[in-house]
Amino acid sequence: MKRRAIIIAIAALAMGPLIGGVSFAAIFWQPVNSGTPLSAYFDLDTRSGYIRDWTGWTGTSWVYGHAYDGHTGTDYDGVSNDPVYNILWGTVTEVVNQSGNTYPNGPQTLGTYVKINHGSVGGYTYQSVYGHLEYQSPLVSVNDYLGTRQRIADMDNTGYSSGDHLHLTLYRNGVKICPYDTGLMPTPVNGKVP
Ligand SMILES: [Zn+2]
Repeated sequence: MKRRAIIIAIAALAMGPLIGGVSFAAIFWQPVNSGTPLSAYFDLDTRSGYIRDWTGWTGTSWVYGHAYDGHTGTDYDGVSNDPVYNILWGTVTEVVNQSGNTYPNGPQTLGTYVKINHGSVGGYTYQSVYGHLEYQSPLVSVNDYLGTRQRIADMDNTGYSSGDHLHLTLYRNGVKICPYDTGLMPTPVNGKVP
């Protein structure tokens, strides 16, 4: 009952865009503080060498604030120790503490990361992953059940990352999706978290 009340409250606050004539309501909260710039969106064009993001922008090489080729997540541009929040209630399924930075020679890891299973929402299952976190900053453990938008860790630059940022991967029924193209997260304003 409590969860349903929260969904309705969020839906009332932030209705998503019309997609195929069907209105989707944003159900996820933002993973970082309001005002945080987005440095890279999800690349909706699966072809190598082509980029398209939810704003309609297309290109062949990265421009700050847009997608880059093959990027299957969303990047939030902050500084070390900025708080990272889970985007919806759920159960922590993975906490990996990996120190060090592997950019640009690889391997292409998420460094320190947290994975959360949100279960079934509106007929879909959702999972989220928060990557490049500060080593040993995760405040949660596997099997913890979290309420919505708790601070789970701090931002940093671990793994294959060229600067302090959060990489968020969102899965719907096991497939990586863009939280903005789908209208599942409140729309950025001037490239920043509203
Ligand atoms: Zn990323």
